[in-house]
Amino acid sequence: MARDPEHAPPPRRRNWRAILPPEVYRITREGGTEPPFSGRLLHEHRAGTFACACCGAPLFRSEHKYDSGSGWPSFYAPAEGARLDLREDRSHGMIRTEVRCASCEAHLGHLFDDGPPPSGKRYCINSLSLSFVPDTPDTPEETR
Ligand SMILES: [Zn+2]
Repeated sequence: MARDPEHAPPPRRRNWRAILPPEVYRITREGGTEPPFSGRLLHEHRAGTFACACCGAPLFRSEHKYDSGSGWPSFYAPAEGARLDLREDRSHGMIRTEVRCASCEAHLGHLFDDGPPPSGKRYCINSLSLSFVPDTPDTPEETR
């Protein structure tokens, strides 16, 4: 942790390649996708917050997580006050909505309109783009 956050570089200019594990770098900074059913947070059912793997900004909450069957952690809504950046993504011959962390521009996943009520939304997010922080302090924290 920087001792003087006032003079730390802004998140989007940090040297992420040097900071992040290679697999996290590939997903979050190069827009990669982890293989389905590979993510360690797919079956995370504890109460807690899913934060950006790069900058730690809170993005999703356990109460909005559901099993979509897609093989990726899925949420029907972002955490209250989460700063997400939604962009049109025309890669791979599809028009999709890309979901990024608005604080550091990390690629998180995609947003689809086939989610459950009440929102009808499905935030399909890579495990590698998230770090889980359990609400109960004595619950062991997941390591990256
Ligand atoms: Zn971030």
